[in-house]
Amino acid sequence: MKPPLFEYVRVSSVDEALDRLTELGDEAKVLAGGQSLVPLLSLRLANPAYLVDINRVGDLSHIANGPVVRLGALSRHRDVERSGLVAQSHPLLSATVKYIGHIAIRNRGTIGGSVAHADPAAELPTLLVALDGEIEARSSRGVRTLAAAEFFEGFLTTALEPDELLTEVRFPVLAAGTGWSIQEFSRRNGDFGVVTVVVTVAVDSAGRISEARISFGGVASTAVRASSAESALVGQTPSAELWKSAAHEAASSLDPSGDLHGTPQYRRHLAGVLTERALVEAHGRVEEG
Ligand SMILES: Cc1cc2nc3c(=O)[nH]c(=O)nc-3n(C[C@H](O)[C@H](O)[C@H](O)COP(=O)(O)OP(=O)(O)OC[C@H]3O[C@@H](n4cnc5c(N)ncnc54)[C@H](O)[C@@H]3O)c2cc1C
Repeated sequence: MKPPLFEYVRVSSVDEALDRLTELGDEAKVLAGGQSLVPLLSLRLANPAYLVDINRVGDLSHIANGPVVRLGALSRHRDVERSGLVAQSHPLLSATVKYIGHIAIRNRGTIGGSVAHADPAAELPTLLVALDGEIEARSSRGVRTLAAAEFFEGFLTTALEPDELLTEVRFPVLAAGTGWSIQEFSRRNGDFGVVTVVVTVAVDSAGRISEARISFGGVASTAVRASSAESALVGQTPSAELWKSAAHEAASSLDPSGDLHGTPQYRRHLAGVLTERALVEAHGRVEEG
């Protein structure tokens, strides 16, 4: 399959990218790792008149530590996966990136591209929604910071305007003593997950759950939180029965659609099984300290 005709525009700075995006408007698409955009072009599911290649923009590849891990939009998945800094300060982020495709895809694919593409089954949006992460977008009009919950609007749809460049993605670091887990079921190693769940659990000094986060990928048009199950967990004493009932509550709150990978009932069942496993593993990490 060959892509439709387009004009290739290479930029070498953020300012130049913003100028070109302002000038070209919705006729243009940003080209980052190309791991999602190029297949879409080849399948003729996207038909932009211009591709604005940002790969030579030097200052968008940072990986910075702090209370929030800040990743430049052009950081490659593989760089994040191999970063000692990320492994130490944000092991959940490190673990999540490993689920993305295969090494060849992670070598080229970028953090900004994955988030801007907004595939509902992609792992990074699921993690961002779990952690209430943030996305920085720039245009010639200025800079804005969007919360993950407002950024992901629907299937492959975000709040980014055509003239905006996603410049940074921010993943809050988990508070000390918080346990975490990511569980995914995919048909083959490296495939997008049929269902993915990201869980974090914190326990107070009395041994009761003080905070729980449960976020799903692959069960709706965007990543979604299981808010009712999260609330039901807070204040409870951890137990096997609690994990089972919370997993049941979380799965029941979902209304997935079916496709060739699974019926709605199958996806809901998977969501329950994976959530229970994730809660057990996350709590195990709390106990391990
Ligand atoms: C076989 C295969 C398996 C895969 N498996 C997985 C998987 O399991 N999980 C997963 O999450 N992903 C998976 N992917 C997708 C992969 O993660 C891509 O890297 C990612 O979705 C897009 O990143 P990219 O840098 O390649 O973006 P591109 O393909 O270059 O761009 C994707 C979209 O984002 C826009 N965009 C990119 N960067 C910016 C920016 N800075 N500002 C504004 N818009 C921007 C583009 O215009 C385009 O619309 C897979 C891909 C393949 C080919």
